[in-house]
Amino acid sequence: MSTQSSTYDVIIAGAGPVGLFLACELRLAGVSVLLLEQAADPRSPLKILPFGMRGLSTPTLEAFHRRGLLDQIVALQQAKDEAGTMPASAHWLQQQRRPAGHFAGIPFFAEDVDSTRWPYRLPSPAGFNLAVDMQSLEGSLTARAIARGTIIKRGEGVVAIEAECDGVTVQTQDNVYRTSWLVGCDGGRSRVRKLAGFDFAGTDPEFTGYSVAAELEDADKLSVGRTYTPTGMYTFARPGTIAMVDFDGGVFHRMHPVTREHVQSVLRRISGTDVTLTNLKFAATWTDRARQATSYRRGPVLLAGDAAHVHSPLGGQGLNLGLADAMNLGWKLAATIRGSARAGLIDSYHGERHPQAARVLDWSRAQVALMRPTPSTRALESIVRDLVATRDGATYFAEQAWGVSLRYDLGDDHPLVGRSVPDFELVGGARIGELLRHGRGLMLDFTSSAPHRSLTKPWRSRIDYICAEVKDHLGLSAILIRPDGFVACASDKPADGERFLEAMHRWFGAVD
Ligand SMILES: Cc1cc2nc3c(=O)[nH]c(=O)nc-3n(C[C@H](O)[C@H](O)[C@H](O)COP(=O)(O)OP(=O)(O)OC[C@H]3O[C@@H](n4cnc5c(N)ncnc54)[C@H](O)[C@@H]3O)c2cc1C
Repeated sequence: MSTQSSTYDVIIAGAGPVGLFLACELRLAGVSVLLLEQAADPRSPLKILPFGMRGLSTPTLEAFHRRGLLDQIVALQQAKDEAGTMPASAHWLQQQRRPAGHFAGIPFFAEDVDSTRWPYRLPSPAGFNLAVDMQSLEGSLTARAIARGTIIKRGEGVVAIEAECDGVTVQTQDNVYRTSWLVGCDGGRSRVRKLAGFDFAGTDPEFTGYSVAAELEDADKLSVGRTYTPTGMYTFARPGTIAMVDFDGGVFHRMHPVTREHVQSVLRRISGTDVTLTNLKFAATWTDRARQATSYRRGPVLLAGDAAHVHSPLGGQGLNLGLADAMNLGWKLAATIRGSARAGLIDSYHGERHPQAARVLDWSRAQVALMRPTPSTRALESIVRDLVATRDGATYFAEQAWGVSLRYDLGDDHPLVGRSVPDFELVGGARIGELLRHGRGLMLDFTSSAPHRSLTKPWRSRIDYICAEVKDHLGLSAILIRPDGFVACASDKPADGERFLEAMHRWFGAVD
C-alpha cells in the first residue's frame, strides 16, 4: 500500500458515463480530478448492442450540445445506423410504425405530439431524443475526459474512506489518496454511498427482469414486440433478443445462476408457449427496486447517478438522470472549490436534483403498476392506451419521457426561470448552445441596454456578456444563463436591474 503525495480537488469513484461526464465538467472549470475505476477493462456485453442501447433525452442532448459533444455522438450513431447494427437489435424497430417513446410499453408517436405547447422551445440541433450505444458514449466521454487532463486509474476500486470536515482520505487496494471532495459515481450498489453512511430509501422490487440473447429452435412461437400475458410480459426481436419480467418479488435476481434451463422455463411460463432455447448466448437480470439517497451530500462526500438513485430500466431514464446530475453538480462544485460560490450553492445540487429523481422513481413505479399480470391491470392498461393515443396524451407522455417538462424551482415566477434556455439563434448564425461551451455563465442582452452591460462588469471573470440580435427573442429583453444552461433570470422589461443583480449574487457569488 502506498500513500500518494498529491492531493486532488476532487476524486470521483466510478468511470461510468456519469463519473466521466462529471470529470469533463470539473476539468472544464480547471479543478484537479482523479477518477478511480474498479474494473480493469471498461468493456462489457451490457454496453454493446443489443443490451447497450440507451435512449438519450432532451436535457442530455442539450447538455452535449452545450459542451460541443453532440456532433461526435450523433456521427457515431449514424455510422452504426449505416452499418445496420442499430436496427438489427431493437424490437421496436422491427415494427411497422416507429415509436418516439413509451409508457409501460404503450407507445406514443412523434406525429401525435403537439410541440407548439412548448412555447419556450426553439428549434435546435439537440432535438428531442436519440438512441446510442453505451460503449460509444463512454468512449467519447473517456476521450474527452483524458484530453482535458483527467487522470483515470482503472482496476483501482475504492475500498475504504475516511471523511473529515476538510477532506477525505480514499483507499483503494493498492494506494491511499487525499482529496478535498469525493463524489460517488460508482453505480447502484455504490460502495461510497455505504461507506459514507448515506440513507437509501425507497421500495423493494416486485419482479426480476431478464435481458437475454439466445438461439431459438422455434422463434415463430413468440410475437415480435411487447406482449403482455396472464403471467408477465416479454419483448422479442428476431433472431433471438428477449427481455421479460417475472413478478417473483425480485427473488431470483443475483441469488441464482442464470442457466439456459431456467431462462427457458421462465420464458415458457410467461409466453404461454413451449418455445425451446437451443443456446443461451448471454443473460443478465435486473429488478424494479426504486431507491434514492435521502441526501446527496454528507460533508465532503457527494453522490451522483445510479449511486444516488436506482429504479427499473423501464422507460430508460437512469442514464439521463445521472448525466443531468453531473451537469448540475460540476460547475457548482468547481465554484465552491475556487472559493467564488456563495455559501449554500453546493447544497442547491441536492435541492434541484433530488426532486427530479424522485419524480422519475415514481414514473417507473407507475409503469410497474401497469405491467402487473392481473385482469384489473390489463383493464387499466387499455384505458391508458386510449389516453396515450390522443394528442393531449401523446404530448403529456412525450413531455415527461423526453424530459421537456424539466424545471427547477428557483423561486422566481417568470415562466423561463429554472428551465433550460431556448437555443436562440443569433443573426450571424451562432446558437446559444455553442456560446456555453466554456462552461461560464452568460448574460444575453437583446436590447443593448447599458444597465445590463454594466451590471455584469464585476462578474466578468465568471460571466460572459453578449449583446446580440437573435432571430426570435420570444419577447424577452435580457436573460441570465447559468453554466449548465438553465435560466437564472429573465425579463420582458427594458431594464430589470434589481432582479438580475440578485440572481448574479445568488448563482455567481460575491464580488469585491
Ligand atoms: C438493460 C438496461 C437498459 C437501460 N436503458 C436506459 C436508457 O435507455 N436510458 C437511460 O437513461 N438509462 C438506461 N439504463 C440505466 C443506465 O444504464 C444507468 O442509469 C447508467 O449506466 C448509470 O450510470 P452511472 O455512471 O451512474 O453508473 P454505472 O454505469 O453503473 O457506472 C458505475 C461505475 O462505477 C464502477 N465502480 C463500482 N464500484 C466501484 C468502486 N468501489 N470504486 C470505483 N469504481 C467503482 C463500476 O465498475 C462502473 O464502471 C438502462 C439500464 C439497463 C440495465
